[in-house]
Amino acid sequence: MGRRIVRAQWLNDPQELRRFQRALLFWYAQHRRDLPWRRTRDPYAILVSEVLLQQTRVEQALGYYARFLAAFPDFETLAQAREEEVLRIWAGAGYYRRARNLHRLAQRVTAEGLPRTYAGLLGLPGIGPYTAAAVASVAFGEPVAAVDGNVRRVLARLLAARDPRPRALRATAQALLDPADPGTWNQALMELGSLVCTPRDPKCACCPVASFCAGKGEPTRYPAPRRRAQRRAEAVALVLVGEEGVYLERRGDGLLGGLWGFPMAEGPEALPALLSRFGLTEALFLGTVRHAFSHLRLTVEVYGAPWVGPTEDPGKRPLSSLDRKILALVARLTPSGLRAEPRTPPA
Ligand code: SF4
Repeated sequence: MGRRIVRAQWLNDPQELRRFQRALLFWYAQHRRDLPWRRTRDPYAILVSEVLLQQTRVEQALGYYARFLAAFPDFETLAQAREEEVLRIWAGAGYYRRARNLHRLAQRVTAEGLPRTYAGLLGLPGIGPYTAAAVASVAFGEPVAAVDGNVRRVLARLLAARDPRPRALRATAQALLDPADPGTWNQALMELGSLVCTPRDPKCACCPVASFCAGKGEPTRYPAPRRRAQRRAEAVALVLVGEEGVYLERRGDGLLGGLWGFPMAEGPEALPALLSRFGLTEALFLGTVRHAFSHLRLTVEVYGAPWVGPTEDPGKRPLSSLDRKILALVARLTPSGLRAEPRTPPA
């Protein structure tokens, strides 16, 4: 109950609210990281960075951001590119649906223009409430709060809320927003979550808004961890090695849709099914590759066989991280090496 009173006191007091905003903005001006997407007002570059940051950490996103902008510096270039080329440049960043959506978004924007409001941006492919708010506030100065995982954690701790409802969080974030410079404000709150109010080790002793925080006594209690079930699955991949390259196929819709990869199958009959698909009776067991997706831990048994059919240069096709792990496993094998110790599928 006491915490509710503390929360109401400063959130509803304009002077206290202003003091909170000043404390955070002063800290941000001193401690903000110098990131390339913070040096531009170009909506395209800001949008690309926000889409990347949806599921990629800042340190990793830096390289992918630079590579993507070098290849596709504006909406027009991206719209005219082939999807396969877009996926190839995105390769390694993961969550390839983001790249396909960006490509479709660029085609829409090139034809119809870029919406400059939160509501308009929300209608574009792959743009959810967070990304729309981030782009609208940072690129166009619209006073709309962006609530990502960092902001959710900071607000939950400020309010000592174990399980804050999304709508209540958005309302609180909107109430805190500095309307004079909403883009800087949103980035400041996210930066606090990235650098100070971190998930496991919040640095409350040097937090600029500690005097406002109801959760600082036991910060890691807030918010309660979300339980996300991670399914386990097993699969078999078949690497067919020719003189000039390996056999690759373009995947349809699904987890790795649009990317190229090795033939793969799941289930108890996976290996016999793959062998019979290519008219083979045996293959060599090469090793096991493990790969974690956000919702899935996949273990892949990799088999190899020599191949005289069509092959591809894997360096010229967009491969997923999983397929690149498989490629690394077989990188040293030659067709003659694959003829040793073949393994026939279990009867
Ligand atoms: Fe987070 Fe601690 Fe700052 Fe509260 S005082 S916002 S828990 S870092």
